[in-house]
Amino acid sequence: MENRLYIYNTLTRRVEKFVPNVDGKVGMYTCGPTVYHFAHIGNLRSYMMEDILEKTLRYLGYDVKRVMNITDVGHLSSDADTGEDKMLKGAKREHKTVMEIAQFYTDAFFEDCRKLCIKRPDVVEPATNCIGEFIHMVEVLLEKGYAYVSGENVYFDTSKLKEYYVLTNHTEEELLQGVRDDVEVDENKRNKNDFVLWFTKSKFEDQALKWDSPWGVGYPGWHIECSGISIKHLGEYMDIHCGGVDNIFPHHTNEIAQSESYLGHKWCNYWMHVHHLNDKAGKMSKSKGEFLTVSLLESKGYDPMVYRMFCLQSHYRKPLEFSFEVLDQVAAAYGKLKKRILGLSKEGAVDAAVFAEYRRKFEDALCSDLNTSSALTVLYDMLKADTNDATKRALAESFDEVLSIHLLVETEEQAPAADDSLAAWIEEKIAERKEAKKAKDFAKADAIRAELLEKGVRIQDTREGVVWELI
Ligand code: AMP
Ligand code: ZN
Repeated sequence: MENRLYIYNTLTRRVEKFVPNVDGKVGMYTCGPTVYHFAHIGNLRSYMMEDILEKTLRYLGYDVKRVMNITDVGHLSSDADTGEDKMLKGAKREHKTVMEIAQFYTDAFFEDCRKLCIKRPDVVEPATNCIGEFIHMVEVLLEKGYAYVSGENVYFDTSKLKEYYVLTNHTEEELLQGVRDDVEVDENKRNKNDFVLWFTKSKFEDQALKWDSPWGVGYPGWHIECSGISIKHLGEYMDIHCGGVDNIFPHHTNEIAQSESYLGHKWCNYWMHVHHLNDKAGKMSKSKGEFLTVSLLESKGYDPMVYRMFCLQSHYRKPLEFSFEVLDQVAAAYGKLKKRILGLSKEGAVDAAVFAEYRRKFEDALCSDLNTSSALTVLYDMLKADTNDATKRALAESFDEVLSIHLLVETEEQAPAADDSLAAWIEEKIAERKEAKKAKDFAKADAIRAELLEKGVRIQDTREGVVWELI
């Protein structure tokens, strides 16, 4: 088939024509969430733009297989393998087991994706399902001389590679490391950038999840998860790998190092990275403790589709600053746009020539490195075009296969409104929970959260205090 998509490839630092390994078929991999907390709307910007990539490929006629991991073990608080396991941190924070935390936040993540019309990948695989695969990879890397055991951990030896910094240059690397919150030095490493493939004793005094391995009881490093899971489901040759820009170094750099050393050949041809969503204080991040979630936007009265449109108005390779002022403007524009589309009459026949002309324009915008704001402009231009309503309606419906902003959904499902007495009861429970937390009675605080949940009320701790919603 004709390959028309041009996309920026981090590997070559150029916008390139996308040509998959097998004509018409695409193997796509997405780094999934670390499920120790809610996803913030910055994480979701990345998943949304990757969703646009997947839907664009499908719209152009490719047969796409998309795989995503769920990181439920091995991601330490610093991406450079130091600090505490994020999952353990989440479990301690909420007085739950790691698996309970993983299940809860995996479900919450997919619920957020549903609200933002982000399609669920064809394969979703938690890291804890694939321990055997990771152990096998580490064994092969040791056999081939790319790894060594030190201080009872297994490390990848970056000095064995001709080129390690394939995705970034040194200056950028230092820049990114500079923002990491943890600078602990691991004395077991032979080279500064060596990274852990398998952790044993040195790291897991209170690690909840551990498995037997040839190097002792332990758990996998974070990077090996994505190599293992993607090779398991997509084979030795992958077309496109996605993530946020903070994944470029060290995560994706390390994935390439270990996958290509393991396979003995080039692994993935295209690397797509989404730039960050920032707030006034800088990059939105879960480790800062306070962040914006989809539920919080909803509790403030925003339709999640407004946030999706907010993201589509800017290019995925540019940082995007979030503000409620701009979100309000987008909400107003979105309301008008929908009114206009829903007002189109259904009478008449679709003009095939006009339909083809605008569909082509829409595809051209997306084929130009996923230019979603131009794609929206094509939508607005089309609504002004000299053609009948039926054609416009059909085009809007067609464009929404990629945009996914509910352009033709008549009535949004409204959350049920709470009556006054229920609202008063909820507020009372929230106050009671606050007191319990103050007194460090976490069991009571948890019990109150559970009681609320049983009544269909979900609560969330935010910078502005506790917010609640009926589910
Ligand atoms: P995590 O759950 O922390 O592993 O992150 C999930 C995804 O969100 C990764 O692809 C990150 O690169 C991406 N990400 C993290 N912070 C942001 C942000 N502020 N804006 C956009 N994407 C982000
Ligand atoms: Zn990954």
